[in-house]
Amino acid sequence: MVIKSKIRTIPDYPHQGIMFRDITTLLKDADGFYATIEALANRYRDVKIDKIVGIESRGFIIGAPLAYALGVGFVPVRKKGKLPSVTIGHDYQLEYGTDRIEIHTDAISSGEQILLVDDLIATGGTAEAAVALIQQVGGVVVECAFVIDLPDVGGRKRLEARGQTVFTLCEFE
Ligand code: IMP
Repeated sequence: MVIKSKIRTIPDYPHQGIMFRDITTLLKDADGFYATIEALANRYRDVKIDKIVGIESRGFIIGAPLAYALGVGFVPVRKKGKLPSVTIGHDYQLEYGTDRIEIHTDAISSGEQILLVDDLIATGGTAEAAVALIQQVGGVVVECAFVIDLPDVGGRKRLEARGQTVFTLCEFE
């Protein structure tokens, strides 16, 4: 598949033993970037979506052009302390310690249909926290979309167990 073949793997980044899936090689390739946004846009063109929520930071790179292609708004979910207005946050577990993501409380209106977008799903912890934030501000998550799934890590199953549907463009073992 053209998209998968343009994603580079960096061994031992950011830690020993991690195979980092690097989408910069996909993004710099005009055909690859176009095919990525088109594949997602084609899936959602006839779905009722009011806004796309992208997760900092690679979720912005995929989510913003997708929102443009679909003619819908874009909402950033950011790491703690980055959003300037009133926020709510959600803490989630990392391998070592915790992290926190935040959303503006006025970013989504009650009942709006939301597509959540990020570059990659691994454990699903980040996406699960983002889903919780969207729901807390009144949004309805239509689907969670990622360029890359790491099925062995279990994130897709984790989201599905919480009633979410997940769409991904490619998988890496
Ligand atoms: P999770 O919370 O374990 O599902 O991790 C997903 C988050 O970590 C996403 O925001 C990804 O951007 C980032 N991430 C984890 N592993 C990789 C990788 O191999 N390449 C790019 N991003 C990654």
